[in-house]
Amino acid sequence: MRYASLASGSKGNCHAIADGERILLIDAGISFLQIRSRLEGLNWRLDQVRGLAVTHEHTDHINAIPVILKKTDWTILATPNTLRAIEISKGLEIPKRRCIPLTPGRSENWEGWLLSPFAVPHDAVDPVAYRIEAAGLSLGVITDLGYPTALAVEYARSLDFLALESNHDIAMLREGPYPPMLKARILSRVGHLSNEACAEFLQNIISPALKNVTLVHLSEQNNDPAMARLASAGVLAQSGGDVALGVATQGEALEILL
Ligand SMILES: [Zn+2]
Ligand SMILES: [Zn+2]
Repeated sequence: MRYASLASGSKGNCHAIADGERILLIDAGISFLQIRSRLEGLNWRLDQVRGLAVTHEHTDHINAIPVILKKTDWTILATPNTLRAIEISKGLEIPKRRCIPLTPGRSENWEGWLLSPFAVPHDAVDPVAYRIEAAGLSLGVITDLGYPTALAVEYARSLDFLALESNHDIAMLREGPYPPMLKARILSRVGHLSNEACAEFLQNIISPALKNVTLVHLSEQNNDPAMARLASAGVLAQSGGDVALGVATQGEALEILL
């Protein structure tokens, strides 16, 4: 299995997971052209993409969907509420035959992979994060959550790989240039996971199975990749395990072999 962050941050998010025959994207918040060029830059084949699982309807997660509907035959996996919210936000209709409706808390068999969406606290209509079991490995993609819930900890147990949000440094956000309303939104229980909360989450889910943690959805304005890395590296080092730590960026793709 391989994981790639094609882009990560407040300007657009796209994760890709491959088993050698098929690729599933999680979110498509960059342009279709960027998805194609970044996949090809990693020598991944666009024609192996079979599906797009969506976490929620914020623009940085759904930007490419209108073009994807026109140019590909990819299946769109999302909760019915999120599908509807995408239709409203983009002013389009997603044909039923293109969709696999998901229910948070219920696992879906997608092309032999087990896809388990679960609810996360975020200011969207029906936001989810994903646990995926494929080829004997367990992967988690957990972003856009206001705080580390007990449910998320439960879904992140004994993962081999985790892409986890490490959105902001609390002090940088507080002292930074964002307007007070936006600061309050990000800091709220339905906002984004801080570096500190990300580290706390890791402390709760670390296990001998865990091989790689990739920090994702870093704010360019309110975070510093070195600070995000430092917060999580401390926790991983204390555990005494051998967990590799990566940081995904907005501008470049990052590939992890699992
Ligand atoms: Zn969001
Ligand atoms: Zn987001």
